Amino acid sequence: MTPLNLFPIPAFNDNYIWALSADGHAVVVDPGDALPVENYLNQHGLALDAILLTHHHGDHVGGVMALHQLTGATVYGPAHEKLPLCDHRVHENDTIDLNTLGVTAQVIFVPGHTAGHVAYYVQPAGQTPLLFCGDTLFAGGCGRLFEGTPAQMVDSLGKLTALPSGTRVCCAHEYTLGNLRWALHVEPGNTALKQRFEHDSRLREQGLPTLPSTLALELETNPFCRTSQLDVVRATCEHSGQQLTTQEQVFACLREWKNTF
Ligand code: ZN
Ligand code: FE
Repeated sequence: MTPLNLFPIPAFNDNYIWALSADGHAVVVDPGDALPVENYLNQHGLALDAILLTHHHGDHVGGVMALHQLTGATVYGPAHEKLPLCDHRVHENDTIDLNTLGVTAQVIFVPGHTAGHVAYYVQPAGQTPLLFCGDTLFAGGCGRLFEGTPAQMVDSLGKLTALPSGTRVCCAHEYTLGNLRWALHVEPGNTALKQRFEHDSRLREQGLPTLPSTLALELETNPFCRTSQLDVVRATCEHSGQQLTTQEQVFACLREWKNTF
């Protein structure tokens, strides 16, 4: 089997529609817009076999109808969200057989950003695993809590960060520099974070994506994955002027801090 090719198709201002392909076949995740996907498929001579959806927001599902009509691709999406179209509703621990790519995608239920958000975990043979996490985990940040609670998001991020640390994190937005700029206020003494900011700033200067990142890097530099680290707890207590004792409280204050940054 040829190795899988992974590519972030840019859409709108800062979305990425992830494409996985091999041997003339492709799968895309969260096609908010159909046209950039059509162009990519045409340029590379790919047949679109499946579409994976993480949640119901328009910038993730807007292109589904058009792509389905054009290609007949099978659409997989979260069980409990309102979607424009979905052939197969997926639940936690379901396995999707992406047979034309020779891989399966495992469904992880990650509520918080929306009530029914799911992520997809793919382990291609001989390659590092991939995580398509939509708007749950971002490089240096996490999704806003539109429909869920801090406790749900802490639990969801915990499931994702428990995956193998080399896992490539394929999130749906290029929010990295803004997130890291804020993270530097939370942890000004974090060397790995400073290095990441320098590195990713250079990528953006060249117009390149900062993604995929890795879970290892998120664990080292993303405040939302570091709610039990002493420096993060201390900074969050100081910023909020509260005595925070649980991970959920720290997370909730971090989320609030980032919302108003
Ligand atoms: Zn969203
Ligand atoms: Fe989004």
